[in-house]
Amino acid sequence: MNSGDQKIQDNLRLVIIGGVAAGASAAARARRLSEKASITILERGEDISFANCGLPYHIGGEITERSALAIHTPESLAELLNIDIYVRTEATQIDTNRKMVIAFDSNEKKERQFPYDKLLLAPGAKPIRPSMPGIDDSRIMILRNLQDMDRIKNNLSNANDVLVIGAGFIGLEMVEMLAHLKKKVHLVELQDQVLPILDKDMVKHIQIELLDNGVDLVLGDGIASFEPKQKTVLAHLNSGKTIESDLVILSIGVQSESKLAEDANLELGIRKSIVVNEYLQTSNPNIYAAGDVAETADPILGHRVIVPLGGPANRQGRVAADHMFLGDKARPYPGTIGTSIVRVFSLAAGITGYSEKRLASESIKFQRVTVTANQHASYYPGAVPLTLKILWSTEDGRLLGGQSYGCDGVDKRLDVLSTAIKGKLTIEDLSHLELSYAPPFGSARDVINIAGFCALNITDKLMTPEYDIPTDDKKQLVDVRPKESADLHPVPGAINIPMTELRKRLDEINRNKPVVTVCALGKMSYFASRVLKQNGFEVSSFIGGINVKDPQPMQQINEKKDGDIKMEEQALSPLSLDACGLACPGPIMKIKESLNQIKSGQELIVKASDPGFANDFNAFCKANGLEVLSVTKEKGIITGHAKKMSQTPQTANVESVQSGATLVVFSCELDKVLASFVIANGAAAMGGDITMFFTFWGLNVLRKDINTKPLDKDFMDKMFGRMMPKGIDALPLSRMHMAGMGTRMMKWRMNSKNLPSLEGLMADAQKAGIRMVACSMSMDAMGITRDELIDGVEIGGVADFLDACNRTKTNLFI
Ligand SMILES: Cc1cc2nc3c(=O)[nH]c(=O)nc-3n(C[C@H](O)[C@H](O)[C@H](O)COP(=O)(O)OP(=O)(O)OC[C@H]3O[C@@H](n4cnc5c(N)ncnc54)[C@H](O)[C@@H]3O)c2cc1C
Repeated sequence: MNSGDQKIQDNLRLVIIGGVAAGASAAARARRLSEKASITILERGEDISFANCGLPYHIGGEITERSALAIHTPESLAELLNIDIYVRTEATQIDTNRKMVIAFDSNEKKERQFPYDKLLLAPGAKPIRPSMPGIDDSRIMILRNLQDMDRIKNNLSNANDVLVIGAGFIGLEMVEMLAHLKKKVHLVELQDQVLPILDKDMVKHIQIELLDNGVDLVLGDGIASFEPKQKTVLAHLNSGKTIESDLVILSIGVQSESKLAEDANLELGIRKSIVVNEYLQTSNPNIYAAGDVAETADPILGHRVIVPLGGPANRQGRVAADHMFLGDKARPYPGTIGTSIVRVFSLAAGITGYSEKRLASESIKFQRVTVTANQHASYYPGAVPLTLKILWSTEDGRLLGGQSYGCDGVDKRLDVLSTAIKGKLTIEDLSHLELSYAPPFGSARDVINIAGFCALNITDKLMTPEYDIPTDDKKQLVDVRPKESADLHPVPGAINIPMTELRKRLDEINRNKPVVTVCALGKMSYFASRVLKQNGFEVSSFIGGINVKDPQPMQQINEKKDGDIKMEEQALSPLSLDACGLACPGPIMKIKESLNQIKSGQELIVKASDPGFANDFNAFCKANGLEVLSVTKEKGIITGHAKKMSQTPQTANVESVQSGATLVVFSCELDKVLASFVIANGAAAMGGDITMFFTFWGLNVLRKDINTKPLDKDFMDKMFGRMMPKGIDALPLSRMHMAGMGTRMMKWRMNSKNLPSLEGLMADAQKAGIRMVACSMSMDAMGITRDELIDGVEIGGVADFLDACNRTKTNLFI
């Protein structure tokens, strides 16, 4: 369409059925194109052009003024556009032969007739109310217009428990608002995930967010019937479970209001929506349909879709008006890709284009990757993680879809991806998108660029993606997170070799078995996979990371009341740490660094944006003599508040202060030594002092396996030294040794089951600060000198041993 010099069809009689998003937008555009046209809106309800997207937020009190939702009154819009508006007037029939709409005017209780040259159907879609026992109870409500909103609001004052059915966008908005109003909210969803339009892996954090906010979430269960009681409504679920509530809100989807079109013999499509062409014309060229009632084409793959969203409805109304007045000079509607977003407490989540499950169900070849990075520079205050999933065509790398969730910046990334999809951009284009960057807004490598890089790494075969953590024995899992993270949240079946140690510890990994590298967010595992690949391993990298795959609900910590804990040093001001922007285990490491500075009775306040920090904080405090006072979350920032326990038994957490263990390792048999290190490392992870006291045969564990220099020993000492196993590779098995065969079999078996080697366990023990003490007396007796022992071993006597015993509550003799 060129600008003002178009041939505009004036004097048209335009009738519009439905006066909200598509209808009002079409009327406004029509008037701008023609001052002479006669434009009439018929609206069944009381209001026109109101903001239905804002309804939940007025119920929840965020939009305080009801009037803010009514963008226009019928009178103000009629005056502004010089149009005729009939509210409370329902179109009941379309006479296509006479080009006449018949309507019932509820104000004057009479039938009216409206002749048209062009007719726009913009009646939208109505919330589904399935027929089932009890469904007609007045306490079971839907939300579509201002009157529904008023009804819900009025009934909420007497409601404590509210049941929301359906965890789509509107259902979740209602859940959040009801929780703000301090209602006990139950949410039931038939699918086994919330936001079924997104992929399951992208909503786990949303589900955790709901649980963290006290929502009673029931997934994979539907409503079978309702049983109205005197004061409550009892919902019977398919599973047999029942939920009693004061009010029920149904939000299980919408159904196109296409009865008029059906009766007028217009062509219907998916779920009885109205089929239109790219100018929104129905099968009758004088009748158009726009908004939730219409089925359009998606511009990605050209499939037919119905996408009931506000943006498309508004733009379709405009296109329909253009075509009515400008004919083939009008620009076509380019289709709907379904970009949508929802806020759920402190998180936002959304989608644009195709999801993985949709692509898979339509047998379209695609690849995918999930990445997580902070929404802006990590060092700038307020950095919080944002997760992005992109899907692209295997054939040409064209972007097919994107999903995102996080506390901040989700809308921006979805909009960039939506634009990229519409622009038919590829993953290569994504990697070079030039996005605005200064520390408060973004990063030099935005998460969108990172997604592009990762996608290219996959297509360039620099990285082999692994989308699930293998549970069988065919692959070995190498967890490359720092030890602190692995200790706090171990990956079952994985050996932990931190990325920083990987190059030195390659021989702990079986070269004959494919390796899957795992980390928190998928970045380090990629780095590790590059190291391993270049060292000859067959390796794949777990995409997304375990923090994304397996988030944990926050453990509920009740605020401690004043005076609950006796404080010895009341005057100490709290130690505050800001660990925002640091990924796990960064926040824990930061606390660890400051642990010695915290005095008994002093409080510690830590802020972190890592989503797993809440639980890490609890576990860490428990193991380190800190009592957790509270863990709270706001806008993605988790604040952990704890107090260091006093040393006195009356006030201290005795378990923490005296945790730890002393182990006497007498044996040099491999299995027993392995057991002793497993126990010691486990005890170290729980905090406290751990001392391993090696005596007599146990000293052999600490011996080096090579002679670094000739040792000056007498004959007997040399003989003794030769007869005893030298170092951990030579240790025998306590049973079924079979001249060394048993030991080899045991090592092979442990390796094939991804169990850590003794060497690995000893390295872990040293890293964890476990004291390894060689008994001086037995060294003398056995003729073992200090030079023969591995680095880091202390030499001590019985006093050392007894002192260690006094400080710990567990003493073991192996
Ligand atoms: C609570 C809620 C929250 C939402 N939030 C969002 C959001 O955040 N983002 C988003 O993109 N979308 C959102 N939507 C969806 C969005 O509002 C719809 O997609 C959009 O309003 C559709 O516009 P429409 O013109 O097709 O239909 P509607 O806006 O539903 O308008 C249709 C009108 O036609 C009238 N009508 C129907 N039949 C007749 C008849 N026979 N005669 C006369 N009048 C008739 C109806 O009374 C209705 O007022 C939300 C919807 C709801 C209900």
